[in-house]
Amino acid sequence: MSTNENQPSANFIRQIIHADLKDQKYNGKVATRFPPEPNGYLHIGHAKSICLNFGIAAEFNGTCNLRFDDTNPEKENIEYMESIERDVQWLGFEWAGLYNASDYFEQLYNYAVQLIEQGLAYVDSLSAEQIRLYRGTLTEPGKESPDRNRSIPDNLDLFQRMRAGEFADGQYVLRAKIDMASPNINMRDPAIYRIRRVHHHRTGHAWCIYPMYDYTHCISDAIEGITHSLCTLEFEDHRPLYDWVLDKLQTLCHPQQIEFARLQLEYTIVSKRKLNQLVMEKHVHGWDDPRMPTIAGLRRAGFTPKAIRDFCERIGVTKQNSWIEMGVLEYCIREDLNENALRAMAVLKPLRVVIDNYPEDQTEQLEISNHPQKPELGKRNVPFTKVILIEQEDFAEIPPPKFKRLITGGEVRLRGSYVIQCNEVIKNAEGVIIELRCTYDADTLGKNPEGRKVKGVIHWVSEQQSHPAEVRLYDRLFKVPNPDNEENFLDVINKDSLEVLTGCRVEASLVNATFENRYQFERTGYFCLDAIDSVKGRLVFNRTVTLREGGWEKD
Ligand code: ATP
Ligand code: MG
Repeated sequence: MSTNENQPSANFIRQIIHADLKDQKYNGKVATRFPPEPNGYLHIGHAKSICLNFGIAAEFNGTCNLRFDDTNPEKENIEYMESIERDVQWLGFEWAGLYNASDYFEQLYNYAVQLIEQGLAYVDSLSAEQIRLYRGTLTEPGKESPDRNRSIPDNLDLFQRMRAGEFADGQYVLRAKIDMASPNINMRDPAIYRIRRVHHHRTGHAWCIYPMYDYTHCISDAIEGITHSLCTLEFEDHRPLYDWVLDKLQTLCHPQQIEFARLQLEYTIVSKRKLNQLVMEKHVHGWDDPRMPTIAGLRRAGFTPKAIRDFCERIGVTKQNSWIEMGVLEYCIREDLNENALRAMAVLKPLRVVIDNYPEDQTEQLEISNHPQKPELGKRNVPFTKVILIEQEDFAEIPPPKFKRLITGGEVRLRGSYVIQCNEVIKNAEGVIIELRCTYDADTLGKNPEGRKVKGVIHWVSEQQSHPAEVRLYDRLFKVPNPDNEENFLDVINKDSLEVLTGCRVEASLVNATFENRYQFERTGYFCLDAIDSVKGRLVFNRTVTLREGGWEKD
């Protein structure tokens, strides 16, 4: 897999557009849109659709709109709208126009009147349950409603009175008059308007009837002059209805609907409904919990827009549904962070080390580069003092085979600093190791010791001149690769997906850590400041990803 942000790989949609441009279909114009319903936060699946729609527009010198598909007022709200705008911008895209399906409510109503006038829509008094029964099955045709042949004037009158609020919710619906025997059930006189007395976050109480998704979507596309309406595969069977509505209305333009496979990502869930359930039932700490596959969660975990765009490019666009391994997303973020994250040292589970032959009050400022391959990122000072902290797991009293870290009587190099030797282990009354007594070799700063080899290198911080920090280690939210296939996805939540370490110490320079920067804590992983809980004087870091696939890097 190779990828280059400026050179998108070929996919079948680009081929269709190339052909359309050649044929002068749509006068050589390309206009796309990203049409989320504001009923939740965007997730990594939406990122695929965003990168595709905005990417195609940019590539063909076209435009891409952001349009809120807001026809289901009970589930939608302004908070979701705002989060969607923020996330699309954060991913690096600019919309040509920002619209709402609700902007078109009046036009949609007028088009429905046109359909009635053409004898192509009727007001039906069947209940939802009856409509379902009359609809038939995949093997049997449907049955016509007794109202199907209501006169045009009567339909016009009833529809107008539906709008005026004369009827109860569910008493009537407006249906397209298509074909109750169609092999495609979507064409068996689908409902296009329903009565629903709910407050809408944009239109308030102006309407008590709301248009249905399929009817709204195609007309909204046409009003905006969209040329290629890209959607996911489950809408393939709805395309005849999309085309039917636009054919009958002879609107300005007739966009081409093209379907592609949804992104499914292993060990997570990409359905707003289920993500909403995780939030509402408090299985996670909100939509932006770093374990969530939402854009807000990924951002808080430390993912970069570049890594997410790279991921979307790599997975490609096809017509086959398939599961993408989490490793692909992790690979993309590691690539970016390996190149751009500043190096720093942090000790997550500290063990005290006293260097007996180091002067009590001395501090040396060791200059260590911020990135081994990028001198332009500069250096920082790391204070070295008599008492330092190392990782508990970097010392072993009884070392396992091939252990290259510190052992009693053994030597190890402190990253960017001296070689130390451990002489004595101090334990408390319970037998727990609480301190190591060591000596350092003053002649080993930046050079190998004379006459012997020291293989291991471990990270460390000064005890006195370091800062306390909380570090949050995240793991996959689900225990199985395909939680969506479970009877109840809540049964396979990984209860150990968050480990909070409160006694960590980070090197002095990190007191100036910024929210924009990403850090590689040497040997430990990639981290960023937590945008919500990290405040001045209380550092909180989130682990974005481990250094290597499969967990913690060992020497
Ligand atoms: P959800 O079930 O998560 O609510 P949705 O398709 O109903 O998904 P919308 O807000 O309607 O969500 O989606 C906006 C756009 O994003 C649509 O064009 C939709 O096809 C696309 N999209 C949603 N989920 C995915 C996904 N997993 N992969 C690719 N595109 C997606
Ligand atoms: Mg939806």
